[in-house]
Order: sequence, then C-alpha cells, then structure tokens
Amino acid sequence: MKYHIWTTGCQMNVADSQRVGSELEKLGYHFTPTVADADVIVLNTCVVRQSAENKAYGFASSLKPLKTADPHRTIALMGCMVGVRGNPRLKKAFPHIDVFMPPSEPGPLVNHLLGKETLSEKDAELKTRYAVQDGDLILPMHEQHNLVTAHVPVVYGCSHVCTYCIIPARRGIERSRPVGDIAREVRSLVAQGVKEVTLLGQIVDRYGFDVPDGPRMPDLLRVLNDIDGLERIRFLTSHPNYMSDELLETVAALPKVCEHIEVPIQAGHDEVLAAMKREYTVDDYRRLIDRIRRYLPDTGIATDIIVGFPGETEAHFQGTLDLLAELKMDVCHSAMYSPREGTVSAKIMADDVPPEEKKRRLDLVNQLQEEIVTEINEKYMGKTVEVLVEDLHRGKWKGRTRTNKLVFFEDTRDLKGQRVNIDIEWAGPWSMRGKVSGTVSESITLTLAA
Ligand code: SAH
Repeated sequence: MKYHIWTTGCQMNVADSQRVGSELEKLGYHFTPTVADADVIVLNTCVVRQSAENKAYGFASSLKPLKTADPHRTIALMGCMVGVRGNPRLKKAFPHIDVFMPPSEPGPLVNHLLGKETLSEKDAELKTRYAVQDGDLILPMHEQHNLVTAHVPVVYGCSHVCTYCIIPARRGIERSRPVGDIAREVRSLVAQGVKEVTLLGQIVDRYGFDVPDGPRMPDLLRVLNDIDGLERIRFLTSHPNYMSDELLETVAALPKVCEHIEVPIQAGHDEVLAAMKREYTVDDYRRLIDRIRRYLPDTGIATDIIVGFPGETEAHFQGTLDLLAELKMDVCHSAMYSPREGTVSAKIMADDVPPEEKKRRLDLVNQLQEEIVTEINEKYMGKTVEVLVEDLHRGKWKGRTRTNKLVFFEDTRDLKGQRVNIDIEWAGPWSMRGKVSGTVSESITLTLAA
C-alpha cells in the first residue's frame, strides 16, 4: 500500500505533511513519488494568497480521473483550504475527494482508512477512538536516516487579527503544545538522525502565552538545548511585539540556538501598519532590529513585506523601500496583497492598488533586497563558517550556516549530517561556495577516524 502527499504553503504545512506521512507509515503505507501509483493521495493546501488557492484547486480537480479509474483509492484534502471549521463548499466542488482534514490533524484520514478495513463492530469502535499520539513522530520511510533538519510545530493556530490574514480563521485559535510533547518529538527525531529542528508557530515568540502561568519560549529553548544529539535549534515566525529581552538573551546564551531571527515588518509606514493592525510602528521595529543586533551581532534577520495593501500610496511604499535600505536585513519574503474572503481588509477596504502597480512595487522591493543581500554576503568572503551538511545536490554538498545562509562545497567524503567548517570563496545573493577548512568539527573527526 502506497501513499503520496502533495504539499504547498508554509513550513507548518511541511510539518503537518510529515505528521500525516508518519501516521500512514504506522498503518503500513509507504511513500511513492508517483501520484498515480498511490492508494492514498493527500493534498495539503494553502490559501494565504489567491495564487496558492488556485494551485490547490487545480491539483484537486486534476485527480478526478484517478479516482474514476480506481474508486478504492482514497483522496484526502487537508490544510487551510479546509480550515478548522470545515468547508461544505468543497464537498460539492470535489465529489471525488473522500476525506477533508483541518490543518495539523491527520485523525480524519486515519479513521477513514481504519474504518475501511474493519470487520467487527467492536473493532470499528476501537478504531474510531484511535488517537494520534502527540510527540510520537516516525519519519516517513523515504526520509528515514535521510533527514538532517526537521520542522516541529510548537504553537498551532493564531489569535491575532492582522486585517489581511486568513490564517487565524483557518488554523483556529492559538494553542501551544506542552513542553514534554515537543521534547519527546524532538528526541524521537534525533534518534532518527535529525540534527537540527526549526520550531514553528504563526507567532512563535508567543509560545506558552495561551496557558496561564505557562512556560515561555526561553523555557522551551532551554529544555531542547539539553537534548543530546541535537545540534541546532531555530524558531520562526516571530512577531515584533513579543521579542522580549529575555528571549534574545536566551538565544545568545544557548549554544544550540542559531543566530537567525524571522520577524516580519509587513510595511514601512505607520499608516499602513495601523490599517494592517500590526500594533507596532516603524520606529518600534527599528528599535527591535537594533536590540536584536545588540544581543546577537551578525545574526541572520529575515522579514516579510506585503506590497499594494489597500490604500498604500507611493509615499507609503517609499517608506518600505527606505526602511529596507536602512535596516539591511538578510532576507525579505515579499508578496503582493491578495484579498482573502473573510478577512477584515477584504470586507472593509477596497483593493485599490492596480495589479501592475503591485507588481512594479514587488519588483522594486526584490531588486533592492538583492542589492542589500549581495552586500551583506560579500562580508562572508574569506571567512570560515560552520555549516551543517544537509544533502548532496548535483554533486555538491549543501548545507546552511547558523545564520541560515545556503552554502555549497565539494568533498569526496560522506559528510551528510556533519557540522563542517567552510572557508567561503565565493558569495552571491542566494548562496555561497567554499571548501572544507583544515579544522572540521569534533563530530566529523570522530566519524572519519572511526
Ligand atoms: N504569522 C505569520 C504569517 C504567515 S503568512 C507571520 O506573522 O509571518 C506568511 C506571510 O504571507 C505573511 O507574513 C505576509 O507577509 C504574507 N501574507 C499573509 N496574508 C497575505 C495576503 N492576504 N496577501 C499577501 N500576502 C499575505
């Protein structure tokens, strides 16, 4: 029995798909890269922008002939297109789809598959009570012994109401996972070869805020930092208002936590930020970046920008360009505003920046960011950086620095999963190249000597 999972959207979806894969492996299914060969097909969808939703609709529609050819096949639609409340319109639009699953919940598919094969009623009852064991994650077979980095959700949902954003409506209110469950999952990943975890949440720096007297992000980081065999920890995405000094101090103090912060600004003008209901000003953000750099010199900082938000004038947009030029961050994820049904902005604000103007602004942001990151990365030339090797890519080893820069290098040894020191010989905006320097990390020396 085989399964295939198609995933679009954010890292949370990647993590959710991994969880579904894990549950299917436990039921005896194995991954196939070929959709047509799969007995179970899962589509993990994103609706953050219209383009993502269109892609998911297209793929879901394209599966109809496969279902007709083999009605025993199970097709499941998961993620933000379904949402925590379900979406009755989908059942009508896609009669060939058997199961609709909210984000992060493999349960409905597991129950469906178990229900299909049950004999006695007692069995059936037992099996509908089947609960997905939190913290007990098995990496899907095709990834076993293979995956060096993994994503681990720590906060599900979001309770903020940024006016443009559909995610809270689709992923439900903010729910932090218990520290113990997260630690167990990370240990299980480490036992399967994972060396680096990225902790995920829509507002990850709010970890624990939904639990009275609950643990906070620094507490979670301290627990995970103690896990033997785990070498690196990252977390994303942060909201500017929750990056406390304690959190920054903790990142600086814990050796496994990387110098890498993702903290979206979204727009570079106070009027736009207010209309987005982001609850900070450009100056607040400036001070935050300054604070991050004081605690974590040379940290990799990523931001997000939306261009063409309703009412964004040329002057507002110039504010965004000026701010990017001033703060010089390492990564800028940029997107054109896309009105999402059900959000505040779609309800009460006209989508009044024409598409070609949005595209012009997007291009300007991307052009500027390319110049900025080219300049930042040039500073890596001639330096030695620690790279965790993830995989071979077209004959070259591929890995990342602690600051999340992509590095390629050649070496005939099997260095997968090792931390190596690389002398950077070439640095472009999107990646760098170098060679293993004389000194390699202790773990490698041991492996090579063994
Ligand atoms: N909670 C996460 C949001 C995840 S969505 C965060 O704070 O970053 C990822 C990014 O998509 C957002 O940061 C935003 O820049 C972009 N985005 C969200 N809704 C959008 C919309 N309606 N149109 C265009 N971009 C959007």
